[in-house]
Amino acid sequence: MSQISNKTNGRPKCQNPGKGIDFNHFLDCVHCGLCTSSCPTYTELGDENDGPRGRIHLMRAVTEGRINVDHRIERHLKLCLDCRACETACPSGVKYGRLIEPFRLAVEESNLSLWKRFDPFRAIVLFQLFPYAKRLRFVLAPVKIAQRLGLYGLAERMGLLKLIPGRMGQMVTLLPPPVKSGRKLPKFLPSIGRRRARVAFFVGCVADAMFRHTHWATLRVLQQNGCDIVIPDRQGCCGAIRYHAADSDGARKEADVNVATFDLKDIDAIVVNHAGCGAMMKEYGLHWKDANTPNRQAFADKVKDINEFLDELGLIPPSGRIETVATYHDACHLAHAQKIVNPPRRLLNQIPGIELRELPEADFCCGSAGTYNLNEAKMAKKLGHRKFDNIVETGAKLILTSNAGCLLQIGRELRKSRQPLMLMHPMDLLDLSYRNEQPKFPK
Ligand code: SF4
Ligand code: SF4
Repeated sequence: MSQISNKTNGRPKCQNPGKGIDFNHFLDCVHCGLCTSSCPTYTELGDENDGPRGRIHLMRAVTEGRINVDHRIERHLKLCLDCRACETACPSGVKYGRLIEPFRLAVEESNLSLWKRFDPFRAIVLFQLFPYAKRLRFVLAPVKIAQRLGLYGLAERMGLLKLIPGRMGQMVTLLPPPVKSGRKLPKFLPSIGRRRARVAFFVGCVADAMFRHTHWATLRVLQQNGCDIVIPDRQGCCGAIRYHAADSDGARKEADVNVATFDLKDIDAIVVNHAGCGAMMKEYGLHWKDANTPNRQAFADKVKDINEFLDELGLIPPSGRIETVATYHDACHLAHAQKIVNPPRRLLNQIPGIELRELPEADFCCGSAGTYNLNEAKMAKKLGHRKFDNIVETGAKLILTSNAGCLLQIGRELRKSRQPLMLMHPMDLLDLSYRNEQPKFPK
């Protein structure tokens, strides 16, 4: 491990950021290093400080008061994707997320300079735009028109989008092509056939603004599987955007709106179809300790990812034949944070005609990681290329993944490659099979 400074480079020393962390989580790590090869940033950079063991070592040293957080330590921790692949790999059961998330949050909150506090991207785009589907849809409307007129594609091919600087430029290159999103979601949809469950559906923000067609597909799949569905209209963002941008209070308020909105007595599960939101909501009971914690935990206990829910319920197999080769990318927040790996594969394998080929490094982060691909564009691009190279190696025509961020990140790689592949959420494909329709592959 390279030498770590005990100076703070003239910046004000922040209060010990490890103070609120249960120290036993540090002690669980026996420094065996079995997690390092699973870590995308370590694999790319080969620096121990950019791997899980090194990061745990740094956080522990700071927590024990042996070193201070200087800009180098902050950098090593910031470069972590919080993908939690190291948790899956760790034989000692180290809960890495319970270390890095509160630690980084404490560093960020204590170091928030005046400029950072009023960083217009953070204050406006992240906090006032992303968490509100209606506002996001409104702002994206002109982009969609440009996409329909072919102007956006032209600008992308000419490399003009790359001229937009910073995070805004990254954001623009991630925008998916327009699809028919469908009408506003209703408050209730009845099951088709015998009722097997009553569920509430979590709509979210970015997912609703950019992937409403996937919401509709998910709802139709739930109906086909005998589910009555309620869709509470006062629900909002899951809180992940604010939580991962060092606004824990704002995230808690968003979580509490959701906790107050869903009537848990009335439903068997809260179903969510994007991994990032699901992972966040399953941890509502962990993130904040106050009088509302039991209610947050009760809410979290009801949350089910759609793949997990259908697999447990027992999928009514679709009958529409789709003859194609597909591959599945594991979203980190599904495979590592929620430990849901086999259910989506089991569901997809029930589509007649489908050949599901295993993706090399299927559970390796694609570089999306929430807003990581906006903040750490260089590493995100490296990981995006790596993911896409692996996809091409499978020979698949169809790429499937269960998370909005991965759909955006892999979608950008796909457009750049101009290969005639298709990218969709597993529920989009299941829905096509139930409706006896075929994916429309690009020519
Ligand atoms: S996190 Fe787990 S796998 Fe990694 S060094 Fe510590 S004990 Fe070993
Ligand atoms: S969360 Fe991901 S990027 Fe961070 S240390 Fe673990 S494996 Fe590496």
